[in-house]
Amino acid sequence: MSEITVTAIPAFSDNYIWLISTGGNECAVVDPGDAGPVLRELQRQGLELRYILLTHHHADHTGGVAELADRFDAAVYGPHDTRIPDQHQSFAEGETVSLPLLGLEFQVIEVPGHTSSHIAFHGHGSLFCGDTLFSVGCGRLFEGSPDQMQTSLDKLACLPPSMRVFCAHEYTLSNCDFALAVEPDNKDLQRRASEVEACRAAGRSTIPSELGEELAVNPFLRTRCPSVVEAARNRHPAAEPGAATLAVIRSWKDSF
Ligand code: ZN
Ligand code: FE
Repeated sequence: MSEITVTAIPAFSDNYIWLISTGGNECAVVDPGDAGPVLRELQRQGLELRYILLTHHHADHTGGVAELADRFDAAVYGPHDTRIPDQHQSFAEGETVSLPLLGLEFQVIEVPGHTSSHIAFHGHGSLFCGDTLFSVGCGRLFEGSPDQMQTSLDKLACLPPSMRVFCAHEYTLSNCDFALAVEPDNKDLQRRASEVEACRAAGRSTIPSELGEELAVNPFLRTRCPSVVEAARNRHPAAEPGAATLAVIRSWKDSF
């Protein structure tokens, strides 16, 4: 199995476009919302773009696709969704995306919730999950139900705990503030929050995180933990563990 190098390309105010390379001069990018920063990074590293992977249709993840695909004749792979215009092949649950020029393969998981057709890619110890799972948070439910998001997060939670989580936004600091409101006594969360604070104060990225750590600190992966269920019940006495708890804390977060 090839080792991959993943470079963060910051875009807009808080997006990360992920560049995947293996030591050669060809690469892939995930969710290029803007072509400019990708072009600068390709030039800096002397790389040719061969593949574009897309997790969902939102413009901050797809805005740079047309220009990049055209410039490099790169293949564009993403979910089944007619709202993504410049895509060459679409992928569903359980399918494998092959990037032969890089010698890499990624497995696809369907993770609806943030959008109806959102997918995630995992392989080589890395998970590219777009706006479904964030560090210490999850995406807003724009097109999906709490049930769908719970099922999607359950699928991600089953991946190996050592997996590196490459989400698409630097939201970790504000996510920690919210998570501490949900679980003020969670020691792992307190530690992660102070790490994140130091990291951001020094201008560093908090991404990737590790899935195993997310399971310990991310309230949206802990909707069956007594402390999280209780916090939800303080707002909605009937909240059951799982999707109902997720629904309560997700709408709490929306107005936090
Ligand atoms: Zn999005
Ligand atoms: Fe986004």
